[in-house]
Amino acid sequence: MAVRGKFIAFEGIDGSGKSTQIALLEQRLKEEGIPVYVTREPTDGPYGAMLHTIMTGRLDACEETIAALYVADRMDHIKNKRNGLLAKIEEGITVLTDRYYFSSYAYQGAHISMDWTIMANSICAQALRPDLNLFFDLKPEVSFARISQNRTDFEIYEKLDNLRNTRQKYLEAFERLKDQEKVSFIDADQSTEQIAEDVWTQVKMLFHQ
Ligand code: ADP
Repeated sequence: MAVRGKFIAFEGIDGSGKSTQIALLEQRLKEEGIPVYVTREPTDGPYGAMLHTIMTGRLDACEETIAALYVADRMDHIKNKRNGLLAKIEEGITVLTDRYYFSSYAYQGAHISMDWTIMANSICAQALRPDLNLFFDLKPEVSFARISQNRTDFEIYEKLDNLRNTRQKYLEAFERLKDQEKVSFIDADQSTEQIAEDVWTQVKMLFHQ
């Protein structure tokens, strides 16, 4: 049986630099000869596509529907035989995912609560726990400025108040779950290169344990 791949979750409010750093880490792991698979929540499967349609304001849905879609998408994300996280990790591939245990697309869209997200995610955590949760910490104002400068298409929930609220809820969740989940904080208010080095320091430790 292949040695299990590592599972690394990237957390942080929108605009904190997760996707930039995931791409850099993917490249670096490949250079080290480590097989890697990058994924994100929501998936591009049927439930994820529906969530995306709702979150971009093209379709209305009530909170319960969003929550149900979110759980369906997350379970598919883990267990889908072709490209699910679990299958990849068991094959020996290291998986990087944008959002997992603490955060959800539906939550960031302020449609379902963080408590609800964590309750749903605790089911997922029984199926698959991250080896490393990296939290990109950045002032919401800086995140918002980065999003505003660099993106042409905003999602409807990408507002300063939502970013503030989401960061606060993250911190509360880390405090509440500090005995169960280890979270590594990354100072995201640095140059892209420096952040990549900080990420690498954390990731390297995983491979040399
Ligand atoms: P997220 O995936 O967390 O939403 P992104 O990686 O998409 O964040 O970054 C948000 C925006 O900020 C992008 O346009 C990106 O180019 C820019 N950005 C990312 N990292 C930095 C950084 N260290 N300094 C300045 N701008 C950055």
